[in-house]
Amino acid sequence: MKDSIMIRDRRAKIVATVGPASGSPFMLRTLFTKGVDTFRLNFSHGEHAIHAATVDAIRALEREVGVPIGILQDLQGPKIRLGRIAGGERMLERSEKIALVAEDTTNDLTAIHLPHPEIFDAIAPGHRLFIDDGRVQLTVVAKAPGRIEAEVLEGGKVSDRKGVNLPDCVLDLPVLTEKDRGDLEYGLSLGVDWVALSFVQKASDIDALRAVVGDSVGIVAKIEKPSALDEIEAIVRKSDAIMIARGDLGVEIPPEQVPARQKEIIALCRSECRPVIVATQMLESMTSSPAPTRAEASDVATAVYDGADAVMLSAESATGAFPAEAVEVMDCVIRSTEAHSFYAKSIAASREPAPTPADMIADTAATLACSLQSKCILAYSVSGATGVRIAARRPKLPLILMTRDERVSRRMALVWGMRSMQEPSISDYNSMVSTAKDECARLLSPAIGDTMVVLSGSPFGKVGSTNNIRVAKFR
Ligand code: PEP
Repeated sequence: MKDSIMIRDRRAKIVATVGPASGSPFMLRTLFTKGVDTFRLNFSHGEHAIHAATVDAIRALEREVGVPIGILQDLQGPKIRLGRIAGGERMLERSEKIALVAEDTTNDLTAIHLPHPEIFDAIAPGHRLFIDDGRVQLTVVAKAPGRIEAEVLEGGKVSDRKGVNLPDCVLDLPVLTEKDRGDLEYGLSLGVDWVALSFVQKASDIDALRAVVGDSVGIVAKIEKPSALDEIEAIVRKSDAIMIARGDLGVEIPPEQVPARQKEIIALCRSECRPVIVATQMLESMTSSPAPTRAEASDVATAVYDGADAVMLSAESATGAFPAEAVEVMDCVIRSTEAHSFYAKSIAASREPAPTPADMIADTAATLACSLQSKCILAYSVSGATGVRIAARRPKLPLILMTRDERVSRRMALVWGMRSMQEPSISDYNSMVSTAKDECARLLSPAIGDTMVVLSGSPFGKVGSTNNIRVAKFR
């Protein structure tokens, strides 16, 4: 990759979803220039050929600007939907009794088809069933084979194929559907950097994806089910990153609980050294307005004060009327928040390092560099794990990751404060330190006598070997 021309003066990263409003090479370039670090391809929508063209355009842009850009493939997952409704739509009145049936019975016009047999096994009287993002709410009063009797708690219109959320039960569903498997194979062939798994219910769901992808991409677990909250520690440990998917999460748990869960998950991810993305409705009104509401600006700032690695745009950048303005606003809010006097205190490390060599060495390097007021901390890392560990401490210094693996350097585009570069040709410790000093000199113009802290492994270039800290001085 050629020299970086784009150095962002902020720590939290921006993820933007690509869609009809932003998929052209011109718009991708505009959004990158305004501040996007990682692009999200939502495989719930769009044909394979369109996603392939987007990946091509992002990689061409990356070559042009000389900065690693992340690409996150978001799999649709086992999204539950109603079947067809007689006449296409129907009004449900509060307190009305209705039936949901597993079979598509065109002769029973009072029943609604729910084409997911596993729901009929798992659901029980008292469980709630939400339709269309919770606009319509039902409670189960009785069940028989292939039939659920329910009462309408909140009425409204329901129509063909509307989404359904079941917050009270764990369904026996494969987390990767047939469509997901096909999409995943395609995404991997395109060279995506991250794969996001939707509707994770339990920690073993991550194993199912890991069995397919190994370490070839980073796995992002989307937290949007109450059952995932019950196993959140294990899910975080098994994943490479976490997305707080507040759209579905805020339907399945009461919305007033979302902010507290957001804080807990961010704190846990920092403690476990996993990058965390806060997603959905951050600047929702900007889908149709060039300016955010005050509450939206505050929502982005809260995620930044909480110490999130990244904040995400969904419809705002995918289908909205003002995608570039939305990125610009997000960038401004992040920078303004990070410049505020409360920020450093609010993100200060609140964890003890785990008693492992990897964790202790990252902690020591961060403490050392801060005490010496070094120009930067540079980690040479094969897997990127050392970079993520350093960033999890949120040190007040520039962070640089050097790696020989292009995929690892791209993944760092999701990690708080991390700037990364690929150096494929380094093969020994001394040439790594000398390249590290050259890069620091180029990026940060150190004065004579300044220091930088360099972390690396011995044996050199081996995964999991980080055990060496060097204070390099500029002379
Ligand atoms: C969400 O539910 O918040 C989310 C990000 O997932 P999706 O956009 O796939 O619904």
